[in-house]
Amino acid sequence: MSGTGSFSPEARAESIHRIDHEGFDVLVVGGGVMGCGITREATLRNYKTALVSRGDFASEANGHSFGLVRSGFDRLRRYGLRVGLRALREGRTLSSLAGHLFSPRFLLLVSQREDDLHSRAHRLGLLLCDLLSGSPASLRALGDGELGEAEPLLRLEGAERALLRHGYVVDGDRLSLSNARWAYAHGAAVANYVALVGFIKDGGRIVGAHLRDALTGERFGCRAKVVVNAAGQDWDDVRLLDDPSTSRRLRFTNASNLIVKRDRLPLSHTIVIEPKGGRSVATVPLGNCVAVGQADTGHVEDHGSTHASAPDVAHLLEVVNRHFPSSSLAMEDVLVSYPSSRPEMVGRSRKPRVATDHAILLSPSGLFSVVCGELLTYRATAEELMDMVSDVLHYGHGMRVSFLSGSSFEPLEGSFDEELRKSMLADMTKRGLEAGVADHLLSLYGSRYEEVLSISEADHQLREKMKPGLPHIWAEVPYSVTHECAVTLEDVMVRRLHLFVEDAEQGLDVASRVVETMAPLLGWDEGMKALQLSLYRRLVAESRP
Ligand SMILES: Cc1cc2nc3c(=O)[nH]c(=O)nc-3n(C[C@H](O)[C@H](O)[C@H](O)COP(=O)(O)OP(=O)(O)OC[C@H]3O[C@@H](n4cnc5c(N)ncnc54)[C@H](O)[C@@H]3O)c2cc1C
Repeated sequence: MSGTGSFSPEARAESIHRIDHEGFDVLVVGGGVMGCGITREATLRNYKTALVSRGDFASEANGHSFGLVRSGFDRLRRYGLRVGLRALREGRTLSSLAGHLFSPRFLLLVSQREDDLHSRAHRLGLLLCDLLSGSPASLRALGDGELGEAEPLLRLEGAERALLRHGYVVDGDRLSLSNARWAYAHGAAVANYVALVGFIKDGGRIVGAHLRDALTGERFGCRAKVVVNAAGQDWDDVRLLDDPSTSRRLRFTNASNLIVKRDRLPLSHTIVIEPKGGRSVATVPLGNCVAVGQADTGHVEDHGSTHASAPDVAHLLEVVNRHFPSSSLAMEDVLVSYPSSRPEMVGRSRKPRVATDHAILLSPSGLFSVVCGELLTYRATAEELMDMVSDVLHYGHGMRVSFLSGSSFEPLEGSFDEELRKSMLADMTKRGLEAGVADHLLSLYGSRYEEVLSISEADHQLREKMKPGLPHIWAEVPYSVTHECAVTLEDVMVRRLHLFVEDAEQGLDVASRVVETMAPLLGWDEGMKALQLSLYRRLVAESRP
């Protein structure tokens, strides 16, 4: 079985060779959490599986998500019993299988006081959900004193109250990568920067796909019994490649996001502000920055624009300044502003249905298309899809198939329980690592932190922090290449180390050294080093307002 080496650029090259020369049971298109989750699910069922992604893993919707997951009660209220219960179950499953990536957190919710009966019913519902999801009974209104201690700069207005409640914060980038890495290590062929550009058909049925390596421009094909379209926002484009006469089923709601320095907005908690009659604004501490975002600010045609609109940015600043008057944030404080868009499924009725849960379509030529609007339910959606794919493999191809989903009990790599966490922290302290660095390594790599540290054994300079005030160490850069298949500077800065959003300089001051560290591992010459640097500098420049 292949995939025994580390998840490196060589693994990518070997995967491309296999995709070109071998036949597969399942070809998955899309390297977001959905595509990576499906690839793991298929591999767990012993199907010979390949995954291709046009960009890096988690480079699209995943990369824009704040990864906030509130309790299943929100789903229950908004989408009904079935979706709500599914979300509750998944919260429990994922926090036990991937605790380091899907970690329970307390979120501070600033919401409107409701009349007594409504308020009591709401609280009862939340407490029941906490009970069902096995999480601590967490919903609690904070008194003035407690709030002052928790978030000294936060001011409530009018009928607002502050509730401390249970939720999760998910690292969507790492969740995708973890699923992809696991699948590769267990026999799947996995390649980032490979796009589907067309389908191979036989008698009107899809029997494979035409692919293009985005790094070399080379074209090749992949034969597969089943092709799954998990292309996220490009879902319809892939469906149209299959059937140009089909109608688009997704439209996009806009979301606006901005990033400010944490010393300008010093928060300890993730805070969700629900203004009266308005949409929620979330503030999320990330390293030495804070991200501020608001979803569903309107519909967009172009989901590829690079900046949040000026009125949206002004509105976000206004909501934040009302609640944190001492910060007085101004346009000059905005380091980065970017829009993102979230797909909505257009149903058969005239009223569009928000795809907050998921949708699966099967085309007449046999293309499965799956879209999922929530990180929380990606695994359950992958399981449901693979049950349908298993039917096709069994009845259409006579294969022996499995309806048992190992993903509901097989932990993701790196996961750990509280006891193991304590012993890993003790181990890192003994080895001389600062507490902040140890916490950082555990939250990114879980029990794989050992692999990162082993890289620095030959060169102790790699144990040094990349810059003061941040917990990243230099060993993470070569590790991103040799164990996490980063092949560009952007992959490392944005999705492996998150310096793009967690560092006030967006890593520009360390970018040259990162390039020098990556170059020998990727065979970059001077020209390629300069190109990588200029592409990253351009990305940073474009992100600034
Ligand atoms: C602004 C925003 C905020 C969000 N906030 C939250 C949140 O707080 N909590 C939460 O649970 N969820 C949130 N979500 C939703 C969550 O991010 C998505 O549900 C999830 O990322 C969807 O994953 P996906 O794999 O379906 O799509 P994507 O992550 O978009 O992945 C699609 C992949 O398909 C690839 N692709 C596209 N076309 C091709 C092709 N032709 N060939 C090969 N590959 C192709 C792309 O390169 C990409 O890797 C948010 C989403 C957005 C946009």
